[in-house]
Amino acid sequence: MQNYISEALSGKRISAKGFAVADKNAKFKPYDFSRHALGEKDILIEILFAGICHSDVHSAKSEWHEGIYPMVPGHEIAGRVIAVGSQVSKFKVGDYAGVGCMVNSCGECEACKKSQEQFCMNGKTTFTYDCKDSFHNNEPTYGGYSNNIVVHEHFAVCVPSDAPLEKVAPLLCAGITTYSPLKFSQIKAGDKVGVAGFGGLGSMAVKYAVKMGAEVYVFARNDKKKEEALKMGAKALYTSTKPSEVKERFDLIISTIPTAYKVSEYIDLLKYGGELAIVGLPPAEVMPQISIDTLVFKAGKKVYGSLIGGMKETQEMLDFSLQHKIYPETEIITADKIDEAYDNLTSGKAKFRYVIDMKKSFS
Ligand code: NDP
Ligand code: ZN
Repeated sequence: MQNYISEALSGKRISAKGFAVADKNAKFKPYDFSRHALGEKDILIEILFAGICHSDVHSAKSEWHEGIYPMVPGHEIAGRVIAVGSQVSKFKVGDYAGVGCMVNSCGECEACKKSQEQFCMNGKTTFTYDCKDSFHNNEPTYGGYSNNIVVHEHFAVCVPSDAPLEKVAPLLCAGITTYSPLKFSQIKAGDKVGVAGFGGLGSMAVKYAVKMGAEVYVFARNDKKKEEALKMGAKALYTSTKPSEVKERFDLIISTIPTAYKVSEYIDLLKYGGELAIVGLPPAEVMPQISIDTLVFKAGKKVYGSLIGGMKETQEMLDFSLQHKIYPETEIITADKIDEAYDNLTSGKAKFRYVIDMKKSFS
């Protein structure tokens, strides 16, 4: 470890090791690489835990677009700050920090100024992996299945020293992606919220919506996780979207579904004025479509997409989660089990969130 700290402090590129796939059909293998030098506003984090998001599976298998390989996925990162640039004010060495789906943006456009950095209007949003870093000669970014990461301090959130880091990691994507639409739709006590897809994201949506006082219902393909849904505070779990079988009508439905499905079936279940927030992003080959006649004839309902959340809201989500002890359901693994975890996520065998213990993975 000392090796890369001294590289950071002497302004050199920073050695890193991680786990990468060489192409969309490959298995994960150890991979040595380097990260850009520590800038004056950058921090270097020793990664302790990295969550496995279904987006990692889509990306590693080039299900949305052709990926950049070798690819080190991972955008649910929690760890400890081990070096700071000369102008860093938010962190000091020894602090805990979290990094999600973004590592940079222009900072100057209207979206960035509103802390909606994921929608940078100058196209400078730099995703944590599988992205070209326009701030560093377009070199590829590498994610959290690795031992360290260097990031502009604005794109790291502050994590208190007593927080359970393995639970914090998934909040950086699964947490913010579900917290954000609940806030955007201004969910309040008594509202009816449906959550479609009950995995890593869906379970967080249920927990947040219950905490906000909503009446929450889960839609899943089968009732294998019914008990867990009820334990989290959901009123019921439906395996059907037939309006005759589903009695409730919803103020908000959040779809986290990562496969093909009929979007209009969920629109049918909204109240007048109800909203469908789409966060699940299935593979390009099976991307669901909505016909505009669905929207015209079901008028008065709103459909919107949501992409993670801005940095200000990510810190707010983390503080809210820690204050109310809203944590993801996690299964800790080591990196030799990533391929198996991916198989389980695509075959329906996974329950909620796999989190990689990075330190153990290298020992
Ligand atoms: P998970 O695999 O953990 O969870 C998905 C859940 O959806 C599983 O429980 C799965 O059930 C269920 N499911 C699959 N197909 C259907 C269906 N047709 N109807 C109902 N339920 C279904 O994935 P994540 O929660 O990590 O991610 C979900 C999606 O969200 C992914 O597409 C991911 O890329 C996307 N995402 C989007 C973000 C954004 O910013 N918009 C951020 C993060 C993720 P089963 O167990 O039966 O397979
Ligand atoms: Zn994610």
